Amino acid sequence: MKDEFDLAVVGAGIVGLSIALAAARKGKRVVVIERGARATGASIRNFGFVTVTGQEAGDHWARAMRSREIWMRVADEAGIEVHHRGLLLPARRSEAVDVLHAFLATPMGEGCKMVTREEAASMVPALRTGEVSEILYSPHELRVESTEAIPKIAAWLAQRHGVSFHWSTAVNAIYGHRVETSRGPIHADAIVVCPGDDLSTLYSERIGQYGLKICTLQMLRLKTGHPQTRFGAAVMSDLSLARYEGFSALPEVQALASRLDEEESETRAAGIHLITVQSADGSLVVGDSHVYGNAHDPFAQTRFDELILAEFDRVFDLPQREIVQRWVGSYVSSGERTVLVDRPDDHVRVVMVTGGTGASTGFALGEQVIDDLYS
Ligand SMILES: Cc1cc2nc3c(=O)[nH]c(=O)nc-3n(C[C@H](O)[C@H](O)[C@H](O)COP(=O)(O)OP(=O)(O)OC[C@H]3O[C@@H](n4cnc5c(N)ncnc54)[C@H](O)[C@@H]3O)c2cc1C
Repeated sequence: MKDEFDLAVVGAGIVGLSIALAAARKGKRVVVIERGARATGASIRNFGFVTVTGQEAGDHWARAMRSREIWMRVADEAGIEVHHRGLLLPARRSEAVDVLHAFLATPMGEGCKMVTREEAASMVPALRTGEVSEILYSPHELRVESTEAIPKIAAWLAQRHGVSFHWSTAVNAIYGHRVETSRGPIHADAIVVCPGDDLSTLYSERIGQYGLKICTLQMLRLKTGHPQTRFGAAVMSDLSLARYEGFSALPEVQALASRLDEEESETRAAGIHLITVQSADGSLVVGDSHVYGNAHDPFAQTRFDELILAEFDRVFDLPQREIVQRWVGSYVSSGERTVLVDRPDDHVRVVMVTGGTGASTGFALGEQVIDDLYS
């Protein structure tokens, strides 16, 4: 086994793969070391929704724009299907309409526009347009199936870029340039740790200083019972405007949030908002709830499913829908930052996306970390 590399990356989620790609493009000899036999963390449990509109204004929104560009190239080269593009944001409440107009007036509104009910229905026929006041369309978003995309990116990195992968191998400690794994040591000039929500194995004392929480989410897959149901865009709802920082930081959100707290207090307390995307077989991935704590919560609440479906039924006219899959996922969360790059040593970085946006921003973050590491 070759055990000397320019760069060792710990973790084969989207963040680790993004770091590996950026380094391989600089001609570095890279090894990715992953505890699992394959990636099974947040990166394959998400919506596969590469979101731009709604990301926090400034650096993070720019990361999403850049990551989307990289996703398109990677998808093309690695043979990953983009199932649909763009995002529809139907506003039902007048306060939500105010948020959409305020958003359009920001630099992040570039390329986005209001569309008519007919235009929206031509993209997503199941939308209940009659109950909608106005609808924003964003062209930027991409939807991939993460359970396929993540393994394909890993295989493509290995084949096309010569990245080595050590699966089923845990990294237990890092001493200088020596990476202690469960299968013996690896030497690397530089090391980037991308541990997802594992806050206790590597550099736990340093990570502990950031006061991170673990956010647990519930997700559903629905069969629609309607073979013609086509989603030509992702769909979110009023609840999303009060959660996604690109909207929720706008002053106009306060009136919406107060109304939602009054009308949907249980839903809001469970951190529920609506994202709906479609898979190749026509099924819909629908979510999600957000509960914050100091550990991943393995127990899914039936009540959360009911609340998610209640919002789904307000937005879509798909009475035959049926749950065919349920799962939970988790990610690290910080109230203060969207990403965390810690520097335990000149040649070591710990990298986390501290919110639910790693699929949307990981590729650009990977470039930033590698540029900094080799500057
Ligand atoms: C339900 C859900 C929905 C989401 N939806 C979206 C979305 O639509 N769009 C979006 O942009 N983001 C979304 N996110 C967020 C996004 O999925 C995460 O931000 C992202 O996947 C984090 O990637 P990661 O590589 O840091 O973590 P992970 O995917 O968790 O990967 C970390 C990996 O590191 C490995 N590891 C950790 N420690 C060690 C060690 N010591 N040795 C070896 N291996 C180790 C783990 O085994 C794991 O495979 C969602 C998240 C969830 C949970």
